[in-house]
Amino acid sequence: MMTSALPYANGQIHIGHVGGAYLPGDIRARFERMAGSDVVWVCGSDEHGAAITLRAKKDGVTPREIVDQYHHEMQEAFKGLDISFDHYSRTSSEKHHRVAQDFFLKLLDQGSFEVKTEAQFYDSEADQFLADRYITGTCPKCEAPGAYGDQCEKCGTALSPTDLIDPQSTLSGATPELKDTTLWYLPMGRHEGWLKSYIETGELNGGAHHDASAWKAHVTGQCRSWIDSGLQSRAMTRDLDWGVPVPVEGADGKVLYVWLDAPIGYITSTMEWAETSGQNWRDWWQSDDAELIHFIGKDNIVFHCLIFPILLKEHGDYILPTNVPANAFMNLEGDKISTSRNWAVWVNEFLAEFPGKSDELRYVLASIMPEQKDSEFTWADYRERVNNELADVLGNFVNRVLVLTRKYYDAVVPEIASQALTAEDQAVLATLESAPIKIADFIRRSRFRDALQEAMGVARLGNKYMTEQEPWKVFKTDAERTAMIMNTCIQVAGNCAVLLEPFLPQTAKKLQTAFGISNAAWEAVRPDMIAAGQKLGELPILFEKVDEETVAAQVSKLESARATASGARMDCEPLKETMTFEDFQKLDLRVGEVTACERVPKADKLLQLTIRTGLDERTVLSGIAEHFEPEEVVGRRVTLLANLAPRKIRGIESQGMVLMAETEDGALRFVTPEEGSSAGDVIR
Ligand SMILES: [Zn+2]
Repeated sequence: MMTSALPYANGQIHIGHVGGAYLPGDIRARFERMAGSDVVWVCGSDEHGAAITLRAKKDGVTPREIVDQYHHEMQEAFKGLDISFDHYSRTSSEKHHRVAQDFFLKLLDQGSFEVKTEAQFYDSEADQFLADRYITGTCPKCEAPGAYGDQCEKCGTALSPTDLIDPQSTLSGATPELKDTTLWYLPMGRHEGWLKSYIETGELNGGAHHDASAWKAHVTGQCRSWIDSGLQSRAMTRDLDWGVPVPVEGADGKVLYVWLDAPIGYITSTMEWAETSGQNWRDWWQSDDAELIHFIGKDNIVFHCLIFPILLKEHGDYILPTNVPANAFMNLEGDKISTSRNWAVWVNEFLAEFPGKSDELRYVLASIMPEQKDSEFTWADYRERVNNELADVLGNFVNRVLVLTRKYYDAVVPEIASQALTAEDQAVLATLESAPIKIADFIRRSRFRDALQEAMGVARLGNKYMTEQEPWKVFKTDAERTAMIMNTCIQVAGNCAVLLEPFLPQTAKKLQTAFGISNAAWEAVRPDMIAAGQKLGELPILFEKVDEETVAAQVSKLESARATASGARMDCEPLKETMTFEDFQKLDLRVGEVTACERVPKADKLLQLTIRTGLDERTVLSGIAEHFEPEEVVGRRVTLLANLAPRKIRGIESQGMVLMAETEDGALRFVTPEEGSSAGDVIR
């Protein structure tokens, strides 16, 4: 059983998410399927919690509209990157509400919670209790400002609102007051004993549960530090109107804490998958021979390694996580990725700007995956890896193999005549023997960078072997030796076609087609996997090189996002939805010159402009009469939207629109092209 962190449905997926929880899961899932393992990998949108209600409030829409939009957009991002979940669900579904409520009730019945009525922070202006992201303050542990009511994102500590120093409502900015409310708490302190041995030694109920040495040191370290500093009770309900309602009489206006319901979402998602695939979900969650692996980012460790295991163990029917191979964070061009500052590479934007390049992004993200500590994505590094590794090593090698096989053998794999193998041949064949075993081992230990390095090492070795053996020279004098070299190169390429599939699924499929590989099972990889006599196919160009301009354009896009973010105006309108370049191209923008202008009778706001466009002279009505006198307008060069559908106003047909900038205090300014442009110039 594999899960990846449920992405929060209040924003888009960026490369940090992918490298943190989704690409590792995908590589592992693809590998396990190829290895014939019984594996199911689920995920879904996390659609509850304060960050969503806050976002909805800010955008002036309902939480439902927010989650519907992002549920859709996040799925597009995953699909575009070939993230191959077996099932993708959402926590706002009726089914999930029922599953989460049943889970809560079971724990409630057996006394797993403490019910407390006590004073909580309350914003009387907003008429709302403040928990989680509704409240910020200084972290009591690391003293970082801006810690949230449930967690400090700086040091990862799980918090309660009342822990915060100098608390402040994020709704009104006010210092909150205290007001009584009833909450259901999970007394985590009760569980310290068994959690400690579960984390430290992998023992549970006196028996071996998992191999604790297989856990990442930074994961175990974080858990140890929390347990050692004493686990506080955590409220498992919230006073909010968006979420899974607390299924208790008299609990109106209360919902389950999002970190109670979200991990249960993994279970709901598995149930949905089982229903459609004729499986029994319990085999994956409630059977002793099942394993449970959570792929997450390091900010979710406390929820998956302490809170969720407590919930599962208290319930009693479930297995506990076997491993939680959390990744650290991926930074971007020297700074932390930030959704609010738009400092990110958004997956959907990448896919639109780089169509057909999903494998390139997967490759780079897998190469720099933050497995043990934070790592950094830069566009210059992206370019180097695509050009020097994918294009020059892998692409170049397989292309040379196919070209020469076509040239010498009419694309048919040559027979090897019995002859002694050289030391170089033996080295290559030995690598083909060992590589699948090493890669499998790395993947299962969540060492994806090493696994990819090993797989690419096979291509690199093939490329080097071919260059050194020079079949194009040997061919003139020694047909048997040439056949040996070429056959070996074909085997290497065939091996790559399978070994790279977990990382580069699209490239692998193209290679498998070209090399006639119909069985891409892991066990099919062997030094003689491609039979002599087989005819090889065609291969499209696998990788195009990335030029410097592309890198510069991406970096400057980020810089301008940064400039916008730091220079943001208080009254600035939110950015509109992203549009495609094709959409933009529909706009016919031209420089126009105003040759005449007069007021429109009985219309206080309208001026009638006569504009020379280079094509014609036309009439355009503009709502600027309160800002300009007609004589101020004549002679001006303006920016004209020339292909706006004509519209009759006051009996006059307006053929276009003059673009204006509205200043902070509501005044209007013409959008005037620089000196030197003249009527008819196209703006693009
Ligand atoms: Zn902190």
